[in-house]
Amino acid sequence: MRFRAVVSMAAAASIGTVAVGAEAAQASGPPRVPAAAARPGGMPAGFVPGEALVRFRPATSAADEARANRVAGGTVTKSFDLAVPGLRMVRLAPGVGVDAALARYRSSPAVLYAEPNRVWGLAVGRVTVPNDPQFPTQWDWNNTGQIGGKPDADVDAPEAWDHTTGDHSVVVAVIDTGIDYRHPDLKANVWNNTAECQGIPGVDDDGNGYIDDCHGIDTINGDSDPIDDLGHGTHVSGTIGAVGNNGKGVTGMNWSVQIMACKSHDAAGNATTASVIECFQYVQMEKQRFGVDVVATNNSWGGCPEACGYSRALRDAIAGQLSVGILTVAAAGNNGSNNDTTPFYPAGYYLPNVIAVAATTNRDALASFSDFGARTVSVGAPGQDVYSTLPGDAYGYLSGTSMASPHVAGLAALIAAQDPSLDWRAIRNLILAGGDPKGSVAGTTITGTRINADGSLTCSGVPVFGVLRPLESEPLGGPLTVAALNIDCAAAAGGLTVTIDPGGTTLALHDRGRRPDLAKGDGVYSGSWTPSAAGTYTLSFSNGQTATVVVG
Ligand code: CA
Ligand code: CA
Ligand code: CA
Repeated sequence: MRFRAVVSMAAAASIGTVAVGAEAAQASGPPRVPAAAARPGGMPAGFVPGEALVRFRPATSAADEARANRVAGGTVTKSFDLAVPGLRMVRLAPGVGVDAALARYRSSPAVLYAEPNRVWGLAVGRVTVPNDPQFPTQWDWNNTGQIGGKPDADVDAPEAWDHTTGDHSVVVAVIDTGIDYRHPDLKANVWNNTAECQGIPGVDDDGNGYIDDCHGIDTINGDSDPIDDLGHGTHVSGTIGAVGNNGKGVTGMNWSVQIMACKSHDAAGNATTASVIECFQYVQMEKQRFGVDVVATNNSWGGCPEACGYSRALRDAIAGQLSVGILTVAAAGNNGSNNDTTPFYPAGYYLPNVIAVAATTNRDALASFSDFGARTVSVGAPGQDVYSTLPGDAYGYLSGTSMASPHVAGLAALIAAQDPSLDWRAIRNLILAGGDPKGSVAGTTITGTRINADGSLTCSGVPVFGVLRPLESEPLGGPLTVAALNIDCAAAAGGLTVTIDPGGTTLALHDRGRRPDLAKGDGVYSGSWTPSAAGTYTLSFSNGQTATVVVG
């Protein structure tokens, strides 16, 4: 099943319609508004006509770049040099097709790669609107079986809040449909860019290239007002940080935090590769240039290969996030499918700062709509019938890996609040090691756990091992990366060797940040292996764990 989230705006109190997977529609839960038929948004599935993303090789001269653009019929409308050096968005001359332009760009020696400006949908499952906005409804924090779930199928938030309830200096960026920054239960936790909020209207007070970017920016409509037209981003934001203990509505994972809004998705729930890359670049700039303490972005969106394809430019932008120590927390997808064999991006990018999140239910089952992946999906988190904020001072239930992802992004902020000295490696590893082992996510995620906030904040002596590469099946020809996560709470747990049979090849795996290892000291140990023939191989790790790969 191909997932394509298309959400259209209805009344503020009932935010509308959702493309519902058959599985999601059958799931049990509180009464909900029937989903209307999905309506296509303003953009076609696939890619934006008349636009392309082109990355020029380093040290390409302006003349060579201009020549390539002239030949292909492209005019540069945006540069993303900070996030991805040499990356341009181009508008194609009337009558020039995207395929033809890409072929011309790719034939230029100055071009590293060229790709369409793809469309990225949201990873939401369904909408329901109850009438009882309060903390006891939030089973994800503390499950008492209040909506038919299993007691303690939750993330132990009240226990975690004994240690910290968050810190206003910690920032999470939400790359989504925007935020209702006026929502009474979010307002105090929305990021304020002081220079702009207190600056002169119509003036780029902080000189960052965006006029009046007080709470963030809107890259899909090209302005600096990230107000939420749809509700998805507002719901996600409430899970990360609805104001806690204010006698109103719901509570976020963080009672206090700052949520930066980057509106990449339009009122129909669609983004483009360029609109999300511009968000990543903005977040990177704010951290790099202004010292904003962004620990993670939340990415409750994505696409499947058929609809969206692999974007190397997006991958490179997320590598830019890694260079400034920002985690990329991403929804695993709502196709109910195996991401090891059918990747879903950005969750599927093989980068150490990406945390891919599956959705669990209030009974600690894997949600029927949730994607999974023993080697590609990191953890499970509550994602079905999640109660949070909606635009217009409203609250409601939503389901999807979209709702699971912000539990993890919120936890990243809570961990950073408890110990500001931790970097992305330690924060990621505490998320991965702190969870509760659950049968439903064993064999369907790398860690086999559903996150537990208290477990992450109090982690001590919890070793976690998981094979990341090779995938279960790999092509023959060329070297394959062999990589395993080997951590003990926050720390890397030491080197491994692996013996590969048939053949008896023995390989040492290192965490030195030299290829194929992507980051030094993060607890992912890597090596390279070139199979000599097709066949099924068994990898035996020095800690006694095994894994198989079918090559060919
Ligand atoms: Ca500005
Ligand atoms: Ca509240
Ligand atoms: Ca590493």
